[in-house]
Amino acid sequence: MSDFYSNFRDLQVHEQEGRDFRIITSRNWHPVLIIAPHGGKIEPYTSQITQWIAGEDFAWYAFEGIKDGDNRRLHITSHNFDEPTLLQALREAHTVLTIHGLKNSSDEFLMIGGLDLTFGSELRIALQHRDFIVRESEQKYRGERASNICNRGRTGKGVQLEISFALRKRIVEDAECRIRFVDTIRLLIMK
Ligand SMILES: [Zn+2]
Repeated sequence: MSDFYSNFRDLQVHEQEGRDFRIITSRNWHPVLIIAPHGGKIEPYTSQITQWIAGEDFAWYAFEGIKDGDNRRLHITSHNFDEPTLLQALREAHTVLTIHGLKNSSDEFLMIGGLDLTFGSELRIALQHRDFIVRESEQKYRGERASNICNRGRTGKGVQLEISFALRKRIVEDAECRIRFVDTIRLLIMK
């Protein structure tokens, strides 16, 4: 499905901040930046998961859909996402991790993409070791474009996680699973 808006400026002309969407961030920027570009009702739970991973230690950013109606139209695909607050945060970021949601509501799994293949494969191994199912990334979820928001930090390469709806729901509702998921990622980043 293609996007309704081709970039943030296009969206901003038709949607109202505070009514249709909102932008929330950590108080300060940090070289580690966790991002939910499709938070709120666009890809449910991605904003919460982003903030849990960041905790008090890292910077985080969430663009959230808060419309009463169709929030899917607020989805600006990762290689077109150019909201200025985020671009500013990315200028200070060395490690970038974006959190996305896949629709699948029956299987608990995730897919890892982005140009930072070292961080990506460390993450895959660590998550698999803690019993999470990491599926081979489909082409469209590989995040290989340089303009993908996960690859726009200072190093030009980052990582994106595409998490199935079923796993997101589990992470939100099951504290044991949430701690296992969040700590695995946080420990790897802090290493
Ligand atoms: Zn997304």
